[in-house]
Amino acid sequence: MAEFQPIDTIWVLFCTCLLVFMQAGFSCLEAGAVRAKNNVNVVMKNFADLCISFLIFAILGFGLMFEGQWQSILTISIFEQQTNSHYYVVFLYQAMFCATAITIVSGAVAERMKFNGYLFLAAVVASLIYPVVGNWIWGGLLSKDANIGWLARLGFHDFAGATVVHSVGGWIALAAVLVIGPRLGRFGPKTNKIEPSSLPLSSLGVFLLWIGWLGFNGGSSLQMDAKTPLILLITMIGGVSGIFSALVYSHVVFKKARVMLVMNGGLAGLVSVTGAADIIALHHALFIGLVAGLLPGLSQCILNKFKIDDAIGAIPVHLAGGIWGTLVAGFYVELLPNQSRIDALSIQLIGIMVVGGFVFICAYSILKITNRFFRLRVSEEAELVGLNVYEHGVVETQLELIKHMSEQIKSGDFATKAAVDSQSSSHSFASYYNEVLAKFSELQNQKELALKKAQWQAQRDPLSGLLNRRAFTSVLESEKGHLAKAAKSSVVCIVDVDFFKKINDDFGHDAGDMAIIQISDLLKKGIRRDDSVGRIGGEEFCILFSETHLDKAVEILEKLRTSIFNTPFIYENKKIELSVSIGVTEFKRDDSISDTLKRADFALYRAKKNDRNQVITYI
Ligand code: GH3
Ligand code: MG
Ligand code: MG
Repeated sequence: MAEFQPIDTIWVLFCTCLLVFMQAGFSCLEAGAVRAKNNVNVVMKNFADLCISFLIFAILGFGLMFEGQWQSILTISIFEQQTNSHYYVVFLYQAMFCATAITIVSGAVAERMKFNGYLFLAAVVASLIYPVVGNWIWGGLLSKDANIGWLARLGFHDFAGATVVHSVGGWIALAAVLVIGPRLGRFGPKTNKIEPSSLPLSSLGVFLLWIGWLGFNGGSSLQMDAKTPLILLITMIGGVSGIFSALVYSHVVFKKARVMLVMNGGLAGLVSVTGAADIIALHHALFIGLVAGLLPGLSQCILNKFKIDDAIGAIPVHLAGGIWGTLVAGFYVELLPNQSRIDALSIQLIGIMVVGGFVFICAYSILKITNRFFRLRVSEEAELVGLNVYEHGVVETQLELIKHMSEQIKSGDFATKAAVDSQSSSHSFASYYNEVLAKFSELQNQKELALKKAQWQAQRDPLSGLLNRRAFTSVLESEKGHLAKAAKSSVVCIVDVDFFKKINDDFGHDAGDMAIIQISDLLKKGIRRDDSVGRIGGEEFCILFSETHLDKAVEILEKLRTSIFNTPFIYENKKIELSVSIGVTEFKRDDSISDTLKRADFALYRAKKNDRNQVITYI
């Protein structure tokens, strides 16, 4: 490690501070790119992964990366041996690199990965994946042990983390999205448009990331020297040329400037110059950035083709950009003795493949196994409602309302109202829901009443209000079933109005109708509660005396006949005589309905023949 000058310490510490903006940048970029229901969750992931990665990198990762074995910064030999504070500077700077590699993943898995599952992944990356790759490429940075950093010794060049940070983050993101799957409705027949909640917030995120990038590339030579301004300029050129080609791509393909595409183009440009910012010229940066700006659009097409859902395009930016930036460094890297340009490019390619293979296989298998025992994806309900509510209790009253609703769906009981807390921000939802419930129950009652009315009308004769022929036949059918079990008998009779046609003929149809109404009322009043009466034809009625002795029925019928005959029927101040003839028969368990009615009809015929106005029993 080169001797640190005070200016170097100041500069690298300043760059470390800039790297903290990387976290702020990712928070804003992701919060704006996801739906509002998940924005708190992505921000919380960025807070928590900084915490997890910093602590674990301090306890295990830093030792593994620079000493080749897990050791805490409290015991690590380089800290014990050195009174030089420069090592602390390097630790701080490197810890932010580690945090950045991890936080790249949070965007890809946004809107469906469990918070705790993500923290577990952050711990795996900080303790194992990031330090191992870091060891292969930058491990010799602080050590005098020549065996540390096998890829670097081969001549592999990665100045500020095109591979160590960005490709590593991108490979892990790819493994994670393959294990947890796409968001609901992202692909397939029911594909919905999943729209970002705030693109201006995302663009602020990109600017913050940009600031972070200046820290990344500016501080990676761990010194402030004559080359530093050029490195910063190269970084800027990479980013702006990425934006430029993304703008062109967007206009050519979509005929408009797509915001996420252009922002990701700029980020891919920044990623791509990260690999070689210390060795390239300005025109190289322009070329590298211009190519990189096309990568997000092109690689997004590949992801879509394989139905791989990366919520903010982390894979197109960091993996595609990282691979391109690493590979292209092979063209400009200073050749080792006896090394050809092809050799240099091959070394870059080997590095890309070995790192890719190790990181992807490691992350994929760890996540796949973990997913068998601990589901890394949130429930469907949580995904629909949003992770803000389900993972962080934002907003708690909203969660209570959702639980209330889902219990009502399960139980089918919509009588209880949702609690309305006027102080809570979701109180309007609760009161609207209650209003919907009230309106719904009112409509339901109206529907039930209409149904009952329709049922009543289907069974009734509209003029008399008595059961109609069909409904009365059903009554007889159920009575027959009842008699078969009860071993008892009932009585059935047919009541026919005498000379009814004459009323119509002499006084008109209205008079006939009124006569039917008067007789129907008398019949209704004259029978007992368990008996039934129906109008089965024009001026014909049928009565069922349930479980009744024949004599008793005849006694009731005689009273009915007399009351009809004695009740005056007045029509237009004229008194009209009304009388009925009645044929009665027993209804026994073995009788068919039609035979019973035929017998009653036969008895009625005899009553008609015997001068009418009488009750005749079938014998
Ligand atoms: P009988 O004494 O032999 O029973 O003779 P009737 O006149 O009572 O019987 P008939 O079968 O000859 O005539 C029945 C009449 O009842 C014929 C029909 O026009 C009339 N009628 C049927 N339904 C209604 C109704 O709803 N209203 C009115 N006003 N008349 C009806
Ligand atoms: Mg008749
Ligand atoms: Mg008649």
